[in-house]
Amino acid sequence: MTTSTPEPLPLLLAPDPRLKAKTRPVAAKDRETIRSILPRMLATMYAAPGIGLAAPQVGLDLRFAIIDLQPDEKPAPITLINPTIEKKSREEATREEGCLSLPGHYAEVTRPERVVVVYEDLDGRPQTIEADGLLATCLQHEIDHLDGILFVDHLSALKRNMILRKMAKEKRARKVG
Ligand code: ZN
Repeated sequence: MTTSTPEPLPLLLAPDPRLKAKTRPVAAKDRETIRSILPRMLATMYAAPGIGLAAPQVGLDLRFAIIDLQPDEKPAPITLINPTIEKKSREEATREEGCLSLPGHYAEVTRPERVVVVYEDLDGRPQTIEADGLLATCLQHEIDHLDGILFVDHLSALKRNMILRKMAKEKRARKVG
């Protein structure tokens, strides 16, 4: 018997209009699509390595994302289908963020410190996560992706344009090289 390792998927890099579009809600019929692509999405996230990956980053127009902070240094992925932020704290926290769609670029982003997120699991059952710290940041970052928002959209126009200009330049260089 052979076990094949799932192959990572190509990542969309900013600037790309597909990263700026709001995703379509996941319907019951889409769950099979998600189940079949999930091993490759996880492989993509772990290979990067990253702690979260949203469907639009691999060119899928569906409202779902995966997160894995590997709390015990072992894989513990969460699949968030149709996630929404139900509550956010008034207190904010600032944390350095990066993104697999903007490799090599990092910036401090201020967001609510705690959030309550409701979502569906792969079987369509409603779930709730209450999070603070890194998980709260990660949840908000991934849910932003599903609404066509990148972490650079939380920065000043000056910082955002600086990063996006560099990304566009790197992208052109990659095409030529
Ligand atoms: Zn991201």
